[in-house]
Amino acid sequence: MDAGQRVVDARSVLHEVYGYDEFRGDQAAIVDHVIAGGDAVVLMPTGAGKSVTYQVPALVRPGTGLVVSPLIALMHDQVDALVANGVRAAYLNSTQSIDERRAVDRAYLDGELDLLYVAPERLGTLRQAQGPNQAQGPNQAQGPNQTIAFLQRGELSVIAIDEAHCVSQWGHDFRPDYLTLGGLADAFPGVPRMALTATATRETHREITKRLRLPDARHFVASFDRPNIQYRIEPKVDARRQLLAFIRSFPDAAGIVYALSRKSVDQIADYLAGQGIDALPYHAGLPAEQRAANQSRFLREDGVVMVATIAFGMGIDKPDVRFVAHVDLPKSVEGYYQETGRAGRDGEPSIAWMAYGLGDVVQQRRLIEASPGDRTFKTRLGQHLDAMLALCETVGCRRQNLLGYFGEVSEPCGNCDTCLTPPETWDGLIPSQKLLSTIVRLQRERGQSYGAGQLIDILRGASTERVRQLNHDTLATFGIGADLSEQDWRSVVRQLLARGFLVARGEYGTLGLTDASAGVLRGDAAVPLRRDVLGRAGATRSRKP
Ligand code: ADP
Ligand code: ZN
Repeated sequence: MDAGQRVVDARSVLHEVYGYDEFRGDQAAIVDHVIAGGDAVVLMPTGAGKSVTYQVPALVRPGTGLVVSPLIALMHDQVDALVANGVRAAYLNSTQSIDERRAVDRAYLDGELDLLYVAPERLGTLRQAQGPNQAQGPNQAQGPNQTIAFLQRGELSVIAIDEAHCVSQWGHDFRPDYLTLGGLADAFPGVPRMALTATATRETHREITKRLRLPDARHFVASFDRPNIQYRIEPKVDARRQLLAFIRSFPDAAGIVYALSRKSVDQIADYLAGQGIDALPYHAGLPAEQRAANQSRFLREDGVVMVATIAFGMGIDKPDVRFVAHVDLPKSVEGYYQETGRAGRDGEPSIAWMAYGLGDVVQQRRLIEASPGDRTFKTRLGQHLDAMLALCETVGCRRQNLLGYFGEVSEPCGNCDTCLTPPETWDGLIPSQKLLSTIVRLQRERGQSYGAGQLIDILRGASTERVRQLNHDTLATFGIGADLSEQDWRSVVRQLLARGFLVARGEYGTLGLTDASAGVLRGDAAVPLRRDVLGRAGATRSRKP
């Protein structure tokens, strides 16, 4: 806006710049607090309207609002949208030419920018005044970061650190550059600072406050409930066919399908396209032009299904995504929440669907074992996975479990698969004992351990070539589990793994006992298991004419 017609009242800015009638939820309180010079930590779910909470103070206070965002790819779009609304916004990043860069520098120093977006790595070599350990840091010799020194020559109105959960070393989006952002407190004393995120457990919330050095901040924590999203998790039997049936029940709907690897993204996208679904792949292994083209078709056209790795979606603002499907298990509840949160930003009914199976548990444990990092780190990853598994296996309300993870207490929601079709449970003690004692026998009598497939063949008394070769048909437990189907047994193994009564180790996912297994073998531990049902809550109901 021109300096002459600059509006200085927060509500007028909201009306005139954005065309909104009212602030929503905590927005007004946050904006007032920051305009008055206070620091803020803002935890709000995706779609709740975080941008307004730092943009309005930036427009009202004198100076330029600095926005730290890790999403370089999106800065361009965000800035364009602001400029289209008459806001004087710009960004600094590595994709710019020297001339572009100079023009932005000049505008900033002349006080002609309302908002300036920068990537955290620009501020990453910031000197840290955080104690003796940091004094040896590799960046120390370089002195204060050039971007910081430059920014100090102009005037900042507010500093907003977006996606603040990236500061958490235990989280799934950790970015080392975020650790240095606490130093902005010293570099810009008196400038109000805000940390914003759509995903934070209590622990991440604490880390944000500590590492970004916001001890006196006011905390604004909105409910993380997304009532218009229906959660459904079903056992994986044939992931592709289940996925296809699910997608077909929403003809012409835009959706995102998340898969773990680039290879499976390509395969699933091909498969869906072959079945007549307008599906496109997205992952970091594709050429940049193809990625951009696919993303823009997804954003601009109706009914495109994006099959993607988690590289896709952060910051994507497409309001009418009707479903998010997971064909592989996310690594954490935070990841699941963030990914599913991309559905239904327009508030219309939407579905978060997932197929999950025994293979996922084994694979995730293997990935954790193979990950770089010390024992403590792996233990933490294991805890993240356990929480995710608990959500998958719960017989209670999914939403209650999910919100509980974020420290929120709620009632059963009536809009998730377990609420709509309460799962039956059955007493799994005896089969669990049969399985565990087979593992014990193989170990003790033969010094062997095996994965689920071989164990299930033994239990069911399957006379396979491998069973005969290994003389497993002479084990005392051979055939004692013939009363259950292979699918039932896989369900038993999966649930025992999820509850820590079993562990899967190594490349082949060989199964072993845990400390908790003894209670099951003795018969002291209750083992209620949920009965697997496919296509819960109408997942396969067709809406086609
Ligand atoms: P977040 O960053 O929290 O995910 P955004 O800031 O992108 O959310 O806002 C989400 C959507 O809500 C956007 O389409 C935005 O235009 C809209 N929005 C935000 N605040 C308001 C408001 N006070 N009134 C109406 N719409 C709003
Ligand atoms: Zn529910």
